[in-house]
Amino acid sequence: MNPRQTRVAIVGAGIVGAACAAALAREGFRVIVLDHRPAGSGATAAGMGHVTVMDDSEAQFALCRYSQSLWDALAPSLPESAEFTRYGTIWVAADDEEMAEVHRKERHYAERSLESRALTREELAAMEPNLCGGMAGGLLIPGDSVVYPPVVAQFLLGTAGRLGTEVRTDARVVALNGGEVKLDDGTRVEADFCLNAAGTSATELTPDLEIRPRKGHLVITDRYPGFVNHQLLELGYLKSAHGSDGDSVAFNVQPRPTGQLLIGSSRQFGAEGGAVEHRMIHRMLARATTYMPGLAGLSVIRTWTGFRAATPDSLPFIGPHADDPKLLIAAGHEGLGITTSLATAELIVDHVLGRESKIPTAPYLPSRSLVAAHHG
Ligand SMILES: Cc1cc2nc3c(=O)[nH]c(=O)nc-3n(C[C@H](O)[C@H](O)[C@H](O)COP(=O)(O)OP(=O)(O)OC[C@H]3O[C@@H](n4cnc5c(N)ncnc54)[C@H](O)[C@@H]3O)c2cc1C
Repeated sequence: MNPRQTRVAIVGAGIVGAACAAALAREGFRVIVLDHRPAGSGATAAGMGHVTVMDDSEAQFALCRYSQSLWDALAPSLPESAEFTRYGTIWVAADDEEMAEVHRKERHYAERSLESRALTREELAAMEPNLCGGMAGGLLIPGDSVVYPPVVAQFLLGTAGRLGTEVRTDARVVALNGGEVKLDDGTRVEADFCLNAAGTSATELTPDLEIRPRKGHLVITDRYPGFVNHQLLELGYLKSAHGSDGDSVAFNVQPRPTGQLLIGSSRQFGAEGGAVEHRMIHRMLARATTYMPGLAGLSVIRTWTGFRAATPDSLPFIGPHADDPKLLIAAGHEGLGITTSLATAELIVDHVLGRESKIPTAPYLPSRSLVAAHHG
């Protein structure tokens, strides 16, 4: 395969499509990116930008960990406006039962060479004085960071552009297969590979992908520098993030380099439309103030919603479609798509080049969704 003679059409200019474009262009592929909206304005603009390692499964851990190393390598070349900051994460344990989970996670991470450290009640209180007293402790993950995702998406597309990638943000795609993309004005874009990176809309173009939109609300405050020093999450977040199908909220607060606080988070399947639902904001803030009562005195300047692209097993679809090997999929990243975008791009490039990836790719292959569908 000669990349210079191989054309790849990417549908979607979110962070996943942008990362894929930059990585493919770096290898010399002829790339075109098609979107009907400005780059990075889908879920990428709505997300929290926490670059973190989650461990629902070994495959999720492997993808996050690989991607985090790519973020660390990319960080020095990012513009200041990308706001890459290594705040570290603290998983807050409210009681002794959650503290037992802290120690389990600490051992689990140590076995996988991820740095983490259990914090005593006193250490936690000293590091985050605005947390309510009486928390049992926490787990510090010093390597986690935050970014401003839409700026990174634009930066990656800029990188790809300088390497010859064409980016169109006036192109609504109505159909695609491995050999061509069809636009709503009837024109066709031919390619050797087509990549569906359309986020929650990926399933409109490739209907056999099992992706459900999962709504989330976020709140941002005015500037309060030093109020919070790490990304803080309750350990119960793990249950709400991936466990139930019902509406859920969890304490999740992120410091921004501007001094603002980003407060999340909520998860809802089956929500109609993107309107801000005040009952969800109320539930979310009530949860947050249970952990951090002083938040109640801060002023909120904006609330918004976004949709995560959720798959049945909480792993994204990355790789060729089972029935059309030239049709590639990079979608379904749910609440980790900022984190895992860079590794996703490397897996896509490895596949197109026919070279082995740094992590096993089987857990992310889209064919697992089709297998599930074919067997009811
Ligand atoms: C509230 C919330 C908080 C989050 N927090 C985090 C976090 O802290 N850390 C983290 O790692 N992840 C987080 N995420 C998840 C993350 O934001 C997403 O996984 C990620 O942005 C997905 O990127 P994407 O490129 O796949 O999708 P998108 O950004 O949605 O991009 C898809 C693009 O495809 C385009 N498109 C769709 N259909 C068509 C079509 N027919 N024709 C042309 N273009 C089309 C869209 O216009 C869009 O630009 C969060 C998400 C939400 C909603």
